[in-house]
Formats: sequence, C-alpha cells, structure tokens
Amino acid sequence: MADRPVLLLGGTAEARSLAADLHAAGIPVVSSLAGRVRDPRLPVGPVRIGGFGGVEGLVDWLREHDAAAVVDATHPFARTMSEHAASAAEQLGTPLLRLRRPAWQPSESDRWEQVADIGAAARAVAARTVGEPAVADRAVTDPAGSGLRVLLTTGRQDVGVFADNADAWFLIRVVDPPTCPLPPRHQIVRSRGPYDMAGELTLLRENSIDVLVTKNSGGELTRAKLTAAAELGVPVVMVQRPPEPALGAAVHNAAAAKEWIAHLNA
Ligand code: NAP
Repeated sequence: MADRPVLLLGGTAEARSLAADLHAAGIPVVSSLAGRVRDPRLPVGPVRIGGFGGVEGLVDWLREHDAAAVVDATHPFARTMSEHAASAAEQLGTPLLRLRRPAWQPSESDRWEQVADIGAAARAVAARTVGEPAVADRAVTDPAGSGLRVLLTTGRQDVGVFADNADAWFLIRVVDPPTCPLPPRHQIVRSRGPYDMAGELTLLRENSIDVLVTKNSGGELTRAKLTAAAELGVPVVMVQRPPEPALGAAVHNAAAAKEWIAHLNA
C-alpha cells in the first residue's frame, strides 16, 4: 500500500492526532471533513471537505483514489457516516478501522439519567420539574414556566427536538449558531472546547442550572462539565451512543490506529 492513501473520516481531535502521526511517518492520508463547522480545525496534510454523495459517492472516491484503507474517526454520534463507511468498505473489500474514544462512565457521585437517543432526552427534560435547586446559591430565579434551567450541550443539530418545550429555560452551548427551530425561552452561548473545571463550575452556578443534557461523546476535552455537575449535585441527562456497524476493527486511540495501518503493510 506504499503510495495508496488512507481515507481518514474526521471531525474529531482523535482524527487530527492520527492525521499528524501518519503525515509525520510518511504514510499517505487524506482527511475528510463534513463541512458543518464554519471555521473547522484543520488536520495536518491533505484535506477534502463535504459529503461524498452517499455510499455510492464514497465507493467512487475510494476507487478513484485507490484507497488502501478507511479509518472512521468520526464523532461517536455521526452514525450515518459510519454506516456509509462500512457499506462502502464491504462493497470494495477495503480494510476498515473505527477510531473511537471510550465512552464516559458514571462514577458514584454522578447523577445520570441515561437515555437512548436525543428524542428521549427531550422527553426526560419535559418530565422534570424543579425540586430543590441543584445549585444551592441560586443566582437566577425564573418566574416563567416550570423554572427548570437546562444546560444543553448536545450540538446545534440536536437542538430542534427541544423546540416545543415552552416550560424550561435553555442555555444552549454551540460552536456555530443553530439554524433549526429553538425553544421559546433560551440563550445561546457560542464557544468551542476544551473546557476546564473552574469555568464549568462558574457556568453552572451563574446560570443556576438544574440539569445538564449531553451526549456521551467521551474524551477529555469536554469532560469537565460532568465533574462540575457531580460536584454541584446537578443531574445529567446522558444520551447513550448509537450502535456501531458490525464490519471493521475498532481501537480507542490514534497510536493504536497507526499501528493497525502499519500492519496493513506487513
Ligand atoms: P452524519 O449524520 O453521520 O453524516 C451525515 C452526512 O454528512 C453523511 O452521510 C456524509 O454525507 C456527511 N459526512 C459526515 N461526516 C463526514 C466526513 N467526515 N467527511 C465527509 N462527509 C461527511 O454526521 P454528523 O453527525 O452530521 O457529523 C458530521 C461531522 O461532524 C462528522 O465528521 C463528525 O465527526 C463531526 N462531529 C459530529 C458530532 C455529532 O454530535 N454528531 C459532534 C462533533 C463532531 P454524504 O452522504 O454526502 O457522504
């Protein structure tokens, strides 16, 4: 496979890390980004941006570039892309690896309500009412609706399912502003991780957050919100990861992925 490129489906820190490692080792790699974020963090080396046009488009791309392997290092919730990668790899007999950071696991002090998908998260929020404020020194009181104050960190594509909740107030943290319908009572805060514990504690306290809603993305860059929530006794509605395709091998970090690619040569 010496000159044949690896297609690296990215959009994650792990993908950027692997792209840098492969580039440094002289292994040809083309990183692929969906093009969702306006100003993406670009990996080292060649990058292509935008969808392939479904499984067929991906098959065409792999054929045209005579790809040696596909590494699916997309976000754990990018289910469609992962399924397309598996279908295309199966059609062509191309080796497929998934690079996935491990999921977060609850500790004893965590108060997680685990839900199957984002729709279930919206229902779980709607079912909650304010009891004792989670944050003892309530900085903000909210005379409208149930008064439930929600920190929503599920990403802008998933905000729409909360749009018909007129009772709760949402602090919506996103990289780029959402374009879908939004819940009537909300505030947008635009930022991009990594986040630290001090900042997350301040955010939860200053906004008197009653519940945090997040996807189980895993990784260190955004873990601080969970530690801060646990420290303040703020419950977490945790969206579990979707199932993975059956085809392909899987590793948890860039070093193991690089080793897998090196073995293709052996
Ligand atoms: P998705 O629902 O699984 O994919 C939808 C479509 O977007 C795919 O069918 C594909 O279009 C295109 N696409 C997705 N990832 C691509 C990639 N790396 N390169 C080229 N095309 C790609 O994906 P998503 O959840 O919208 O996520 C989009 C990207 O953002 C992913 O690369 C992912 O790693 C990153 N991301 C996602 C999340 C999340 O929570 N979902 C969070 C952080 C980062 P075609 O069918 O036209 O090929």
